This record gives sequence, structure tokens and C-alpha cells, in this order.
Amino acid sequence: MSASDSTPRYDVIIIGAGLSGMYQLYLVRQLGLSVRVFEAGTGVGGTWYWNRYPGARFDSESWTYGFSFSPELLEEWEWREHFSAQPETLRYCNRIADKLDLRRDIEFNSRIKSAIFDAAANSWEIETTDGRLARARFLITAIGPLSAPTMPTIPGVEDFQGEAYHTGSWPHEPVTFAGKRVGVIGTGATAVQAITEIAKTVGHLTVFQRTPNWCAPLHNSPIDAETQRSIKARYPEIFAACRESFGCFIHQHDPRNALDVSPEVREAFYEQRYGEPGFGIWMGNFRDILINQEANDTITAFMQRKIRERVRDPKVADKLIPTNHGFGTRRVPLESGYYEVYNQPNVRLVDLRDTPIERITKAGIKTSDTEYAFDMIIYATGFDAITGSFDRIDIRGIDGQRLKDKWAEGPRTYLGLQIAGFPNMFTLVGPHNAATFCNIPRCIEQNVEWVTALLRHMQDKGLTRVEATGVAESTWTEHVLEVSQRLLFTQINSWMTGINTNVGGKQKRTVLVYAGGAPAYRKRCDEVAGKGYEGFAFQ
Ligand SMILES: Cc1cc2nc3c(=O)[nH]c(=O)nc-3n(C[C@H](O)[C@H](O)[C@H](O)COP(=O)(O)OP(=O)(O)OC[C@H]3O[C@@H](n4cnc5c(N)ncnc54)[C@H](O)[C@@H]3O)c2cc1C
Repeated sequence: MSASDSTPRYDVIIIGAGLSGMYQLYLVRQLGLSVRVFEAGTGVGGTWYWNRYPGARFDSESWTYGFSFSPELLEEWEWREHFSAQPETLRYCNRIADKLDLRRDIEFNSRIKSAIFDAAANSWEIETTDGRLARARFLITAIGPLSAPTMPTIPGVEDFQGEAYHTGSWPHEPVTFAGKRVGVIGTGATAVQAITEIAKTVGHLTVFQRTPNWCAPLHNSPIDAETQRSIKARYPEIFAACRESFGCFIHQHDPRNALDVSPEVREAFYEQRYGEPGFGIWMGNFRDILINQEANDTITAFMQRKIRERVRDPKVADKLIPTNHGFGTRRVPLESGYYEVYNQPNVRLVDLRDTPIERITKAGIKTSDTEYAFDMIIYATGFDAITGSFDRIDIRGIDGQRLKDKWAEGPRTYLGLQIAGFPNMFTLVGPHNAATFCNIPRCIEQNVEWVTALLRHMQDKGLTRVEATGVAESTWTEHVLEVSQRLLFTQINSWMTGINTNVGGKQKRTVLVYAGGAPAYRKRCDEVAGKGYEGFAFQ
């Protein structure tokens, strides 16, 4: 289709109404610009709208995750648990939408299938999957780093006659497990949460595991009235601490090296961190465990002992212990009794490295040695991370260049926020952006405020077009690759290194995240702005 006089026109189109899209909408309105948000779901909240699977909850401390920009909202909202569950977080997202009166500018049930730059008109034209068009000078993607669910590439998925769900697009209606034979495929962060919760009521549970992960205890608890008061009083302090830490979490790395302390001191420190809530064991550990293999081996051995202590059957424990990566080199799932699930008589672990799945059948799942019958199959197979939601939109820039083609060998961006050849388009929480390795709302605020300041700069100067230069893009992309080399995780296959065996073309390692840390990223963004938006060409 092509635009006609009746095509709605805005100054800004935002794709996505998760936290990024909501905050961006709020700030764009304050610039006095006309704006429309297009959202595939029927409500706001993004991740917290879609991921309604049992057990879904934060790994971030709730009180570090919420938006910091509104003192009024901080005062009004009371998180009930230190690590909030999905229903409460979704209520929080809806509260923001109500308070800021966001819904009147959001078109729900609107999945964007294409976004094409019209150079002559200096504007973007988007089209929804049901054929609606709209145009805007600026296009801001807020489509999420983990919002493109992937199914496994196993034959027969359509054949299964029981209930089947993907955790990332869980139904809104209640799903029950009592008395049912349930099969779960996957053991990543989502699976770990879901398995633990489902095991509480299930008839019989079979977990199909290909790659075990190093999981650490979450230690969630309710927030009592006194703690609530203290959190509210300390918000400025809490956000300041997050701001200074590598990934904007409340946890700071210990300044010591694991290899510089005695084995006794090391063990006691690991034990202490293992007993504390949240990502402390990952983000607040000795400073060398994620960069030095020998140091990493010490925490890996500790975590291995923990699994053996918690899982009664040594053969099952063996299967649950990762052998292809050290602790912390992939996203660490936090758990609340995950390992003990495998001590239940009604739970079975199938190691797909020994007996791969051959196909899904009418009755269940057939591996190389047997067929398992199920009433329900749950695909906890995750997402086509970070670039997946971009790949699912036909985005074309100058001269019709497709973004997917441009990124075929890995993303190329400037600051993870713009792309040469794609003028007037901004990518919130996009690849190569510190937000992808972050307590995300902390970085969302930075991304959105930075993009808004750039739009204001253009308004003030009467500019209508902005594009990252090729040189700036190359320099940033090389910097992203260079800083990632220091970290052990770049030597491991994971979604952070662009590997997804369920997605064609994603079998080659690349760098999707910015691993230089949020403070360094913010500093660079501020310098660029301070120098009149160095690296951008304006018209
Ligand atoms: C289960 C789970 C737990 C998580 N826990 C944490 C945590 O503890 N701490 C943390 O920091 N982060 C966590 N995350 C990451 C989480 O995604 C971010 O914290 C944050 O919610 C991202 O917000 P966003 O608005 O950028 O993206 P999203 O919340 O993913 O929102 C993107 C929106 O864009 C929409 N969209 C995408 N493509 C299109 C299209 N083509 N057309 C129209 N709409 C589109 C989607 O429907 C979605 O609503 C978690 C993620 C998951 C999946």
C-alpha cells in the first residue's frame, strides 16, 4: 500500500508500549509534538504484559526497577515484595499508563510489519499487519530486547493434541496443572521460574534440558512497613548507587580479586553472597570472576558443590551441572527452590544431550529412545534476543536498504541508538546499547531522556533530519567489539553473543550487548551531546 492524503501523520511514531515506549511517549508529548504509539498487545507493559507464565518475576530488586523520574509515583507506589511477581509489575505498568494518561495516544492490537523511509518526504511510513498506514518524521523503536518468542525447530509442533503454550505469549486465562502430565522444554531463566512453580501442583512433570545453567538463589521476601518507609526515604541514594554500578543494579563488584584472597576467605565470601538476595553473587562478586578464567573456576567449583548438596540423586545433579560454560558467563537464572524440584518423585529430568528430541507427536514428545505422553507441553524456549524484534519488521532506510541485510554479519550502530542509512530512527534498548546489559529501566530512562534532548535540540535549531555518520557508526561498533573482548562471556554461546539454534542465520557469534558498563556508556552519550551531537549529520 502507499500513503494517501488520508494517511494519519504524526511528528513521532513509537513502536511498542512497554516501559521504553511509555516513557518515550510521555516525554515526546512534553516537546509539544504529535505522537502515536503502535503496540501489538492489547495492553501496556511489554514484557510484563506477555510473560504471564507461572513463577514470572523480577531478578532486579523491585525498588531499583521502577521508574525514578516521578517523585510522586515513587511516593505513591508500594512494591509488596523485594522481587515482584509479574501480576504486580503489570499493575505497576498500568498505574503509570493511568497516571500519565498514556492510553489515548496508543493504538493497541497493532503489530507493525514494515517501516520504510521515504527520503523525498523525509518521513517514515509504517504499516500494520492488517494494512493500516501512518507516517511520521521520526520513528522510535521501543520493541524490546526479549520480545520475539522463539519456538524450537522440532518437527511436529502442530501435531500435538493436548494443551501447548509458549511462556513468552502465555494465555490471559488461568492454566492449571493439577493431575496433568506436563512436559517443559527448556531450562533458561524463564524455565527455571516456571518449572519451580508448576512443580508445586503438577501431576507429573518432565523437564527436557539441552543446556543446564548456573542458577543462584533469589531469596525473595515481602517488604514490611518499616522497610517500605526506609526504601522510600532512600530512593535518591538507591538510584545514585545504581547509576554508579556497571549494570545499574544495587550490587557493586567487590574491589578484591578472587585470586588475591585465601581459599578460606574466598569460600566464606561466596557463601555469604549465596545467602543474600538477588544478583549479588553475579554482579557483586570479586571483580575478576567474569574476566579471568582461573578466578571464574573458583566460583564455578563453589556453585557446583551447591548443586550437589541440594540434589539428592548424584546422577541427576551431574546432569544439572553445566560443563560448557563457567558461572556468570551466561545470564544467571535466579531461583527459589529449583534444584529441590528434582528431588520430587513426580519430576523427571531428560538430558537432551544423551537423547535428543526427534519430534513432537500427537500424544507428546519423542526422543531418540522413547516417547513421552503429555496433557500439556510448555515451550520455555526463550526469545530471539535483542535483534529478533527488529528482524521481524521489514525496516528499510535510504535507497531501500533493509536493516536485516545491513545487520546480517552482526549489528552496526552508533551508541546503540542510531544507524547510518536510517535517518530519523532511534532504537531504544537496541543492540550495542548499555541497556541490554542493565537493570533495564535505569538505562531506559537514560536512553529516552537522551533521545528526547536530541529531538529538542533539533526543534530549537529548526532541523528536520538526523543521521549517524558512517564513521561514527564504525568507531562505535569497533569500540563495542573491543570492550566485549575483556569479558569471558564473549567466548560462550548464548543469546548475549547472538547465538540462537532455533533461528536461521543466528549460529555465528557476534556481539549484541554493550559490555563497557552503563556509567561509561552514559559518559560517552553525554560527551556526544555536549559536542553538539558529534557523529550525527543534521539537515
Ligand atoms: C521473563 C522476563 C523477566 C525479566 N526480568 C527482568 C528483570 O528482573 N530486570 C530487568 O532489568 N529486566 C528484566 N527483563 C527484561 C525486560 O524486557 C525489561 O526489563 C523491560 O521490560 C524492557 O522494556 P521495553 O519497553 O524496552 O521492552 P518490552 O517490555 O519487551 O516491550 C516491547 C513492546 O514492543 C511491542 N512490539 C514489539 N514488536 C512490535 C511490532 N512489530 N509492532 C508493534 N509492537 C511491537 C511488544 O508487544 C512489547 O509490548 C525480563 C524479561 C523477561 C522476558
